[in-house]
Amino acid sequence: MDKGVALLLGFKTELILNKAQRTALMKHCGIARHAWNWGLGLTKQILDHNNALPDSKIKFPTAIDLHKWLVALVKSENEWYYECSKSTPQQALMALREAWKRCFNKTAGVPKFKKKGKRDSFTLEGTVKILGNNKIQVPVIGVLKTYERLPQVLTKSATISRQADKWFISFRFDVETQNLEQTNVVGVDLGVKNLATLSTGEVIAGAKSYKKYEAKLSRMQWLNRHKIIGSTNWKKAQIAVARLHMKIANIRKDTLHKLTTLLAKNHGTVVIEDLNVSGMMANHKLARAIADMGFYEFRRQLTYKCQLYGSKLIVVDRWFPSSKTCSNCGTKKETLTLNERVFECGDCGFVIDRDLNAAINLSKAVS
Ligand SMILES: [Zn+2]
Repeated sequence: MDKGVALLLGFKTELILNKAQRTALMKHCGIARHAWNWGLGLTKQILDHNNALPDSKIKFPTAIDLHKWLVALVKSENEWYYECSKSTPQQALMALREAWKRCFNKTAGVPKFKKKGKRDSFTLEGTVKILGNNKIQVPVIGVLKTYERLPQVLTKSATISRQADKWFISFRFDVETQNLEQTNVVGVDLGVKNLATLSTGEVIAGAKSYKKYEAKLSRMQWLNRHKIIGSTNWKKAQIAVARLHMKIANIRKDTLHKLTTLLAKNHGTVVIEDLNVSGMMANHKLARAIADMGFYEFRRQLTYKCQLYGSKLIVVDRWFPSSKTCSNCGTKKETLTLNERVFECGDCGFVIDRDLNAAINLSKAVS
């Protein structure tokens, strides 16, 4: 990547919502769907008319035409439109017009009517502001909280979507990639004893602070064992337990962000192993921070951060024998049990920490 290239990046993350906010988001989805379906019905009628009467064709409307007609014909009849951001139906009609455009130039099929609960989403345009690390302000709905740290960028619109009972916000932004012209390669071995071992010899231990909360959690659950289910004390205890769970989860999330930033920001090339996550979890081979969030999340963060910092991410095939190969002479061992924490080469006599050996092999896999 060239130095200082402007790059359009997308960011999508889950929202933390209260009941009122959920209702507001549902309403906006409803309006986006209503406007789309109304516009689609109308444009289909126009096409039918033009096919039937080729001599008296009606001009196919632009997104602006459609919005003018919507304001005149639909909004006045449907009061609930006024409870939501006016940019929502406008954006839905723009998306509809784009869908027709793709259909006309044959890059996509005919647009379809939207059903409630299926790919619910809407777009807001206007003042979208990122406030601090975990808050984003959007028109009409106000301030929304996110689990994940938000990039500190400027954006003019945001799309909110629903998958099952989870809600997500996504937006696009331009960045000047920070190409530090680094040529160093780092191999990363994810582990259980330590969060990550780097081929440079650095060891990222991961967050220790949540361990004390985990101890507190198990003590709390033990103390609660005789409380009558459904009683006031039991309910209070349940809330306290849920809060502690959330706190632990947040510390782990933060740890993962620190690791992915460190890797992407300070190395020209990052080499990781493609992991079979379900197998890894069953073996308890990964640190809790990664096991909890999933390898997919680790890789997702690393991918966008590498783009952001102008570094290269290489994912090595999961069958690459990173642990079994001697990083000194290249001889491959037949077997290596999980308990063997030190790699001892039978060929050249090289002795090295197991994880460090794997990380070095990964860093060499690209050269
Ligand atoms: Zn060897």
